[in-house]
Amino acid sequence: MTEHSIPNALASIRQRITTASHQAGRPEGSTTLIAVSKFHPQSAVLEALQAGQRYFGENRVQEAAAKFPDLKKDWPDLRLHLIGTLQSNKAIEACQLADVIESLDRPSLSKALEKAAQKTGRLPELFIQVNIGDEPQKSGVPTAEADQFIEDCLTRFGKHVKGLMAIPPFDEDPTPYFRKLATLNRRHGFNELSMGMSADFETAIAEGASLIRVGTAIFGSRPAGNSA
Ligand SMILES: *Cc1c(COP(=O)(O)O)cnc(C)c1O
Repeated sequence: MTEHSIPNALASIRQRITTASHQAGRPEGSTTLIAVSKFHPQSAVLEALQAGQRYFGENRVQEAAAKFPDLKKDWPDLRLHLIGTLQSNKAIEACQLADVIESLDRPSLSKALEKAAQKTGRLPELFIQVNIGDEPQKSGVPTAEADQFIEDCLTRFGKHVKGLMAIPPFDEDPTPYFRKLATLNRRHGFNELSMGMSADFETAIAEGASLIRVGTAIFGSRPAGNSA
């Protein structure tokens, strides 16, 4: 078996993005690839940077804080997205570290981020995470509360709020969920939409994703027990 190559995997994903965009009749460059590097070492991120990748995603503040500040010094156009459930007590560190927070999912976190922004003088771009399948174990604002929460976030954060993010149910056809999220996104006038992962990013592009979050297909499988 040949060893996993990050540059080759990135090239192949970029090709698939181009093909999916053409098939969807969408302009080239209308989807941004976020390389999800959670549980992979800093050396893997560096390899991706050297292969031209600039947008990265991490789930945990602590792990991101250990890997990224160094790299950002050498690669000033690196953009870090926090995509995992964010604890309110990590809001200050998240504001200092991230360029984008994609997991704004509850009023208590809104309040914590507002305070953190005042304290740090820095507020990342924000995506609101919707629990689009209304799954009990999953993060995200429930669909029935989404309109109200989105309006509250727009009041509080204005143009910092860029769009919606979701992870559809794992074992179902994601198409209807992507479609539902895209409809909600349009209804609130957003231009950005974060959906699609290694297994379904082509479908997400067909349904209008502007950001896709791809981990395994770029970096290989994560250590066992660390899939989240
Ligand atoms: C881990 C993760 C991803 C990437 O998943 P892959 O299946 O490895 O591509 C995307 N989005 C979120 C929110 C994640 O937690």
